[in-house]
Amino acid sequence: MKFETKVLHAGIHPDPSTGAIMTPIFQTSTYVQKSPGKHLGFEYSRTANPTRKVLEENIAALEGGSFGFCFSSGCATAATLMHLFQSTDHIICADDVYGGTYRLFENVFKDFGVNYSFVDLSDAKNLEENIKPKTKAVWIETPTNPLLKIIDLKKIIGAAKKKNLLCIVDNTFMSPYFQNPLNFGADVVVHSTTKFINGHSDVVGGACVTNNKELARQLYFLQNAMGAVPSPFDCFLVLRGIKTLALRMQRHEENAMAIAQYLESHKKVERVIYPGLPSHPQHELAKKQARGFGGMISFIIKGGFPAAKKFLEKTKLFSLAESLGGVESLIEHPAIMTHASIPKNIREKLGIVDGLIRLSVGLEHKQDLQEDLQQAFS
Ligand SMILES: *Cc1c(COP(=O)(O)O)cnc(C)c1O
Repeated sequence: MKFETKVLHAGIHPDPSTGAIMTPIFQTSTYVQKSPGKHLGFEYSRTANPTRKVLEENIAALEGGSFGFCFSSGCATAATLMHLFQSTDHIICADDVYGGTYRLFENVFKDFGVNYSFVDLSDAKNLEENIKPKTKAVWIETPTNPLLKIIDLKKIIGAAKKKNLLCIVDNTFMSPYFQNPLNFGADVVVHSTTKFINGHSDVVGGACVTNNKELARQLYFLQNAMGAVPSPFDCFLVLRGIKTLALRMQRHEENAMAIAQYLESHKKVERVIYPGLPSHPQHELAKKQARGFGGMISFIIKGGFPAAKKFLEKTKLFSLAESLGGVESLIEHPAIMTHASIPKNIREKLGIVDGLIRLSVGLEHKQDLQEDLQQAFS
């Protein structure tokens, strides 16, 4: 099946007991057994739930994977994955990952003895230079957040595999519509389904997908043992959102391209970062490894923080809010909002400067969006 068909049909079947075409919300904690241990495949909803199972199979299919697992948030997904490791293990992580991922690694799992190196993996030689005897895994996000640097999946995963490192790729920004890291040899793909996959700003959720049977066995164990599972209702909502994922991603990108070009031509803008612009230093790489450039744009406004603050207060259609990937456009200030958990000196070294603004371009008409930015600049 092609992607547009998979979002509607992969893992989804009419309910056998009623014929309901939409997956029912199995709002139940437990399941009645015929005789001790004799049941229909469901015992307790932390372990497995029919609504969740459909979502897990659907997301797995969208990523071209065999095994999918859903969690109560993107961070819960990452936290569960971290339990694949032990104290003294070392993980190499891309340096401008999602702020909450950085916080989880640096301020939570580090206290349990897991060690991390945060390095710029847009330069592949930084991987080899940071491998230690106890290095077990590489954690990648591409494009990175908020600087939209592109990491060469083929190169990094290829180099990591030679050293037997587990490759985990957070694919939230691209969504499975534009990029499938498993095709590049990644072991696990991670999503915050809160973002593009659900796409309607009404659920917090997460998922991961793998093709590796042994890894799937461990993840199934951890999902049940840790218990950070999503509710049946949230699974239903995400399944509902997924049905329009292909259509939404097309429009997110069309609008983002138009807005990126507009910003690039504006005299009050110092620099626009969008992988779809030829001015992006890795535009060619982005074209090579993904089928599109997504809906996220970062730009630096001239005039530093005072100018950024004023601008953020003035947009109307672009709502000032954290998060991304919803149908409505959002604007935010990484240094103060999403990436505040990263210390200022590290932030500035990365390029998350005070004039940096991030846009999640939604599905409104692109002309209205451009006019909104225009009046905010004025
Ligand atoms: C939001 C986000 C997360 C965390 O997901 P939650 O659902 O908010 O816990 C992880 N990675 C990326 C890239 C994100 O944008």
